[in-house]
Amino acid sequence: MSEGKDRGGFYDTGWRPSDDLHRDEDGRPHDHPGLQEDVVLGVRASRALAMHELLVEKGVIGSGEVDDAIERWSERVPSNGASLVAKAWTDPEFKARLLEHPKETVVESGFVPEHNADIIVLENTSEVQHMVVCTLCSCYPTALLGPPPDWYKSFSYRSRAVTEPRAVMAEFGLELEDDVEVRVVDSNSELRFLVLPRRPDGTEGWSEERLAALVTRDSMIGVSGALEPGKD
Ligand code: FE
Repeated sequence: MSEGKDRGGFYDTGWRPSDDLHRDEDGRPHDHPGLQEDVVLGVRASRALAMHELLVEKGVIGSGEVDDAIERWSERVPSNGASLVAKAWTDPEFKARLLEHPKETVVESGFVPEHNADIIVLENTSEVQHMVVCTLCSCYPTALLGPPPDWYKSFSYRSRAVTEPRAVMAEFGLELEDDVEVRVVDSNSELRFLVLPRRPDGTEGWSEERLAALVTRDSMIGVSGALEPGKD
């Protein structure tokens, strides 16, 4: 990269795109003349753009494939899982089906499990608290919860979840009674877990939508409970 030169704090790799697309003044392809980004691309962005163009050029991927993938990622958010939890809280038949045939129920609800992984739904009760970890890396039900938070991927969480789960939960604000059994489950590439947190007291008669707002990402990992009414 010695041929590159510094431009406004970013390293210019010297790469320039081919000429068969609309370009802005920095040479980036675009569809909307006059509405381009006004920042200089950094080295990683330039490299990604160059690789993208090459992959399209060589027919490895279609021109819209990356955009489609980004669009799909943006649809993966914790409110997906929260909608299932809220429905399970209000509809006993749905809850039974979600616990008994989780993957089918998730798919029927319109969510596509990543890597076609299996899914197990674990219900937290006054007697049992489930907590999910991936001790090896960061396996996670992304379709239902979005991308995993950084702490979930940390070595610290991956080890402490196993050795001192109660202490970890306490740090997330969940103080369990001594007689509550803690079950830590280990995800892997073929199996993901969704925790069904306990429905908070004082929510009788609430709509699914209102209940879903109490269901946090962390409560579906099992490191905390759902929000209490009035604190949402
Ligand atoms: Fe993993």
